[in-house]
Amino acid sequence: MNVYVSDFADGSRELADLLGGKGANLAEMTRLGLPVPPGFTVTTEACRAFLRTGAAPEGLDAEIGRHLTGLEVALGRRLGQTDDPLLLSVRSGARFSMPGMMDTILDIGLTDDTVAGLAKSTGRERFAWDSYRRLVQMYGSTVLGVPADAFEGVLHRVKTERAVTDDLGLDVRDLTAIVTEFKAVIRQATGSEFPQDPHEQLRRAVLAVFQSWNGERAKVYRRRERIPEDLGTAVNIQAMVYGNLGPDSGTGVAFTRDPATGRAGVYGDYLSDAQGEDVVAGIRNALPLQELEALDPTSYGRLRAHMALLERHYRDLCDVEFTIERGRLWILQTRVGKRTPEAAFRIAADLAEEGLITQAEALGRVSGPQLDQLLFPRFATDADDRPIAHGIAASPGAAVGAVVFDSAEAVRRAATGEAVVLVRSETNPDDLAGMIAARAVLTSRGGKTSHAAVVARGMGKVCVCGAEELDVDTENRRFTGPGGLVVAEGDVVSVDGTSGAVHLGAIPLRPSEVMTYFETGERTPGLVDAVARLMEQADGTRRLGVLANADTAEDAARARRFGAQGIGLCRTEHMFLGERRGLVEAMILARTDDERRSALDALLPLQRADFTALLAAMDGLPVTIRLLDPPLHEFLADGRELAVRIASARAAGQRPDPHDVRLLEAVDRMHEENPMLGLRGVRLGLAVPGLFAMQTRAIAEATAARLAAGGDPRAEIMVPLIGAVEELRLIRDEIEHVLADVSETCGMPITCPIGTMIELPRAALTADRVAEAADFFSFGTNDLTQTTWGLSRDDAEASFFPLYLDRGIFAVSPFTSIDREGVGRLIRLAVDDGRAARADLRIGVCGEHGGDPASIHFFDTVGVDYVSCSPFRVPAARLEAARAVARQRL
Ligand code: PEP
Ligand code: MG
Repeated sequence: MNVYVSDFADGSRELADLLGGKGANLAEMTRLGLPVPPGFTVTTEACRAFLRTGAAPEGLDAEIGRHLTGLEVALGRRLGQTDDPLLLSVRSGARFSMPGMMDTILDIGLTDDTVAGLAKSTGRERFAWDSYRRLVQMYGSTVLGVPADAFEGVLHRVKTERAVTDDLGLDVRDLTAIVTEFKAVIRQATGSEFPQDPHEQLRRAVLAVFQSWNGERAKVYRRRERIPEDLGTAVNIQAMVYGNLGPDSGTGVAFTRDPATGRAGVYGDYLSDAQGEDVVAGIRNALPLQELEALDPTSYGRLRAHMALLERHYRDLCDVEFTIERGRLWILQTRVGKRTPEAAFRIAADLAEEGLITQAEALGRVSGPQLDQLLFPRFATDADDRPIAHGIAASPGAAVGAVVFDSAEAVRRAATGEAVVLVRSETNPDDLAGMIAARAVLTSRGGKTSHAAVVARGMGKVCVCGAEELDVDTENRRFTGPGGLVVAEGDVVSVDGTSGAVHLGAIPLRPSEVMTYFETGERTPGLVDAVARLMEQADGTRRLGVLANADTAEDAARARRFGAQGIGLCRTEHMFLGERRGLVEAMILARTDDERRSALDALLPLQRADFTALLAAMDGLPVTIRLLDPPLHEFLADGRELAVRIASARAAGQRPDPHDVRLLEAVDRMHEENPMLGLRGVRLGLAVPGLFAMQTRAIAEATAARLAAGGDPRAEIMVPLIGAVEELRLIRDEIEHVLADVSETCGMPITCPIGTMIELPRAALTADRVAEAADFFSFGTNDLTQTTWGLSRDDAEASFFPLYLDRGIFAVSPFTSIDREGVGRLIRLAVDDGRAARADLRIGVCGEHGGDPASIHFFDTVGVDYVSCSPFRVPAARLEAARAVARQRL
């Protein structure tokens, strides 16, 4: 026989699947002997049966009836009893809390007959009628589906007639009249009466909770959070207790530790002579919980004892809702409490130290994204001025700066030391310099995976994107906000990338002490100490190495301070920009071998200096240098601009600049419809003689220079975008040749491991062959995702991704978090086949996914050796790599 109903006294927290989160915790508290108003839970099993058939399962009514009778006997009061009636609350409670489920209904059991009984038993007539009024209203809108406005309209009219602003100004006569009118509203809207049978009230309320599982908001939420559609919700039915029966009654919330900072102590609010919803409505200011001690020392003492018991039992921060009814304390609900990232770290470290949880559990209680949040400066005060706009909190932290509208202006002002905020409708790769120069990036379009969001996160830069209320007018260098507010270039704004808010004017900033700790090692008590303890624990636990993607000595040094164990990806193309563009241009435009050779010769010393600095910053640790990857046209001027310049000169009767003409010819010659699938990576190395040899020589000579200086350089050479082992073999030969040559010239052996990126499905599928010519693999998961899905990483996120996310095709962008089923399968296969061919093959990941928590957990399970991510993501990656291991130990 199915069990559709379970008494609180019979359940436990282990049964959360069946009883829902709330029901399981009510049962657990009952089992612990805490004063929980008695009741029972209609299980998720009953809801699932309802969802399957559209009707209450057979036997449910009878089961509810039996449990109700038990409750009535225990309390000595019956539902519907006209003198002192039993009244009930009905609350939904799924396994995971979700928005859009039916609101709580209080005071089930009140009818025209029992309302007088309640008035008598409590001695409060107004209270009884007000409760009845609330029931009819709540029941009418949530169970019977009458538009809430219809009730609000009546209430509003009566208050106006009585010239009162507050419900509290209504007396018994008013409330009685309102109840009559509410019932008429229901009659008119539904064609039937507000049920005067309390059992029917209860039965229909339960079914309404079941039905709310399929409410639109709940469905959207589940799709997004990947919560299975068929879990169903439980329904908790509980005897009512009242906090609004006079000065010796009240209601409140309490936490076993401060959910904001994690400090131990008593935290919470108390409101005397009030019901739970009054606290939320903010009718009166609540008192700090400590003041309850003076008002009702007995209840306070008991509450503290219960809280301590709960925290020991759940071994975590708990919060409770409680009610004191005429001096008697009741606990209405508990759960493991929500907390800020700061509190999460402190509580985890403290509970581990107190011996309440294991180290592995402590690691399970914090996360990389929480750590990230602690690395950013925050606004020092709670800004009370209202934000001028709200966008998507795309990259956390807080920043203040003058508004600028293009990259050049951002760079210009930043060079003078001015803090700027780059405002664009959306960003593209041309904005990179401006984004680097700005303190924050603000866009009016685009979501969490837009260019602005992804790049800003990678740089650890504050970003709010998709602030749609803003109309960005780049041409006139201003944006317009709600209400016609105009913000011009140079005006100061404060951007909160943690909340998504944008404020006009400067809000004071507080630097992150956790960032200071990572930068300097300075360990202060409290939060920093907690973070430090957990990071030590993490480093002792993780299996995965954590390296950084860095192209400059400065980034390398920072990465090292953040705990990176080397460089997993140095993108050399970043060394071909700026002033060197001319040299690269000369290489591309070269008409003869000699011209090309001299252009490469000019680049050689610059590259050598770059690598020498990088090897010095990472002395003793691996520095994986990737040979040039992007298509060459990326280093040339924009074809459209050139064409315009040439055409304008001609139109003015002048001879166009011959250099421009030559450049345009080259641009046209190199034009590719799909450059991402074109002449790039290893193909470039094969097609442009001497290019990879020059880079290799620079690496070898930098190594020699570092050795001569007494250093411990550990360069590794990585070949991008191979699809076949033959490509790698050819380049490998060339590299080995250059290494031998440099060794001979400098009189000492220069060797470097030579490996390849795995970025194309074909490389993954033939990993056994590729491993024959590779000392290491590094998965370029950005390109591997792009080529496996056939999705352009540059275009797709901006175009149809929102649709795909919305329709639940992706829960998250596959460029953010690894697609385990598809791309992940290729990775697994390449790891296994690569290692089968070559047991000592080292394997890493250096795409964006190397810094993503869920992806890191996946890479840990498939046996990758290390992940590599941008320096700012290194601390979180260390933590997540440890959490992946700790999870197995729980
Ligand atoms: C990759 O493709 O994952 C990678 C790291 O290379 P890039 O992003 O430079 O193409
Ligand atoms: Mg790539």
